[in-house]
This record gives sequence, C-alpha cells and structure tokens, in this order.
Amino acid sequence: MDKANTARQGINTRLAHMGNDPQEFFGFVNPPVVHASTVLFPDAKTMAESSQRYTYGTRGTPTTDALTNAVNELEGAAGTIVVPSGLAAVTVPLLAFLKAGDHLLIVDSVYGPTRRFADTMLARLGIEVEYYDPRIGAGIASILKPNTRVVFTESPGSNTFEVQDIPAISKASKAQGAIVMMDNTWATPLYFRPLDHGVDISIHAATKYPAGHSDVLIGTVSANADCWKQLHETFITLGTCSGSDDVYQMLRGLRTMGVRLERHEKSALEIAGWLEAQPGVARVLHPGLASHPDHALWKRDFSGSSGIFSFVMDGADRPQAHAFLDALEIFGLGYSWGGYESLAVPVFLGDRVVAKAPPEGPVIRLQIGLEDVEDLKADIERGLLAASRKT
Ligand SMILES: *Cc1c(COP(=O)(O)O)cnc(C)c1O
Repeated sequence: MDKANTARQGINTRLAHMGNDPQEFFGFVNPPVVHASTVLFPDAKTMAESSQRYTYGTRGTPTTDALTNAVNELEGAAGTIVVPSGLAAVTVPLLAFLKAGDHLLIVDSVYGPTRRFADTMLARLGIEVEYYDPRIGAGIASILKPNTRVVFTESPGSNTFEVQDIPAISKASKAQGAIVMMDNTWATPLYFRPLDHGVDISIHAATKYPAGHSDVLIGTVSANADCWKQLHETFITLGTCSGSDDVYQMLRGLRTMGVRLERHEKSALEIAGWLEAQPGVARVLHPGLASHPDHALWKRDFSGSSGIFSFVMDGADRPQAHAFLDALEIFGLGYSWGGYESLAVPVFLGDRVVAKAPPEGPVIRLQIGLEDVEDLKADIERGLLAASRKT
C-alpha cells in the first residue's frame, strides 16, 4: 500500500494491515511463523559477504520483521528490537548506553524490577543511580550532572500513576547530552508516542496490551535514528532475541489492540469515576479523572488512557485490604495486566525515596478487563463491603 495513503488512515485500519505484505507470502493474510536458527547461503561468496537478507535466527526472520515494521510505524521509530520480556526491554537499552562512571537518573515511581536492576546490577557495574521526583518537570536541569548519561522516565508511574512532563524533561536532558528513555507500557503507542515528544528510546512491556491475553511474555524497544545503531548492536551482542511463536502472537494481538483499548479505557474511566464516590475509598489514582493532580498534563500530552489504575483505601489497614481482595469473585489476584480479564493487587511502595505511599491507607491496583462493567462494579462493592466489616 502507498505510504502516503496509509499515513492518513485511522489507527484501526492501520493496525489491521501494518507489518507484513500478504503478497510476499502467496497472499496469506498473516506472515509465516519462521522457526529458525540456521539460514543457508547459496555459496561461499554470499556467506563471506553476509550479503543476503537473513543470516541467522537471532538476527531476524520474516516473522520478526513483520512485527518490527509494525512497531516502527506505530512509534515513528528508526528501528525496533523485540526481546523476551518487558523487563528485558528495560535492561537491554540501559546496558546499551551506560558504562562505569556514568550517572543515571530514574523516576522514583518506576516499575519495581527496573529499580532492582539499577540498584543491583547497574550499581555493581559502577553506575551511579539516583531517583528523582516524577513531578520534577523542567526542574530536572538542576539535578543533571556532567556525567548524566541516561534519564529514565515512566509515565504515568507504576502503581501511583504520576504523569511526567516528558517534553520538558527531554528538552532539559538533551541540552546536557543525556539520552532519554521512556517506559511507555501504560499508554501504548496508540495513546502516547514518546519519540514525538523528544524521547530517544521508547520501551514497552508488550506482554500487556499488545499481546493482550495473559499468555505471552515479550518486550519491544524502539529508537530514533541517533540511538538505533547502538541499541541494535547491543541486542545482537547480548543475544536477547524472542521466540517466533511469541513474536507472532504479539503481531496477532496488535490487530485488535485498538478496539480492546477503547473498551479498557471506557470501562476503567467509568469504574474509576464511580469508585471515587464509594464508601471506604479515600482517593482514586487515575490521570484521566479531573481530580487527579496531573490531569491537565495528561490531557495535554496523551490521547487516551488504558485500563489500569489504583485506589487508596480510606483509613484502612492491611487486614481490611486483604478482606477486600479475598471477597472479589471476578477480579483475579495476580501480577501483570493488559489481558482481557480483570485483576487486583495490593501495591507495595516501601522502596520509594521521593514519591512516597499515600498516607490515608493501603493502595489497591485494579486492571479493568473486557468483562461487563456492571458485573465488575458489583464485584468491587462486594470487596468494599467485606473490608468495611473487618474493623
Ligand atoms: C509489566 C511491566 C514491565 C515488565 O514486563 P514483563 O513482560 O512482565 O517483564 C515493565 N514495565 C512496566 C511499566 C510494566 O508494567
């Protein structure tokens, strides 16, 4: 299809057709799932020159190309790597750009295992790690050092959903020569495109909405033209490629991601707004709500919201939080999110250094799935009632 035409099409039209050209494989709508290590060369000269399109399984196949083409288009990226988990999508770019003696700034509301990686492995490799306030905005300039190599952002933050001023942070960081990375898992490239806002490296736990069915672990990292070469070289050096069945499943997930997200967004907003008025609830942490402190910033930069948010229990303690969770019949108690089914988890914020836990009571995170909203509300009511009885 003509590129100029597809750029004007709606997102669901593009999601339905991006990535692969059916005519390249006998007209089959979907690309082949190529299981490959060895690729054969026709002669020694071709082999010596590595002059054919595919050379070895770790370096890409028609299946991975279909997916990376699609993600490049969604992100507006120069290149994308596909790795075996969302966590690998965080660790590979950090390893690609940091060296001993560098200073790394990480937002304090970051995904927990990212913090763990920085505090253990990166610290051991001689990298100085510092956490900053998610609401720092242009104030990041005051904590950038001459050796700050990477500024790591995640917006909204994990579990507490603070929105970062990504354009301001990018501008200040790049003026000092730092590379800006963003974990954009919450919004997906449908609701926020990091590279358009000055970010160099966009990270996704594609395990969540892109895969969408709680059955695949996969991550993507997309880079602008300046950072692509180094990111790709590190990826090849580390050998962190994904299995072809998982790659295929993510591409399959992308076809329906637009319609699934619309439903997640609508249901989550309805439940979040309703929850604000329920007894036993102190606050709802969802940037799409007018009551959220970063609502204006979210509205300025994001074109939508996804299905995950948290709420703070009013004056409750741990037994009441457990009573809430144990009374749920539809919401499952389990980690991760982005699948078709609803989930609830208690949130741990004890490792925060700046963006501390809300004082009112325990924080519960809800992933709103594709079920019917009235059933989910009834389930939450059951939980709140059980919590209120446990005094
Ligand atoms: C889930 C998650 C990850 C890690 O993804 P996995 O595929 O579970 O390793 C990374 N970042 C964020 C923000 C996440 O929510």
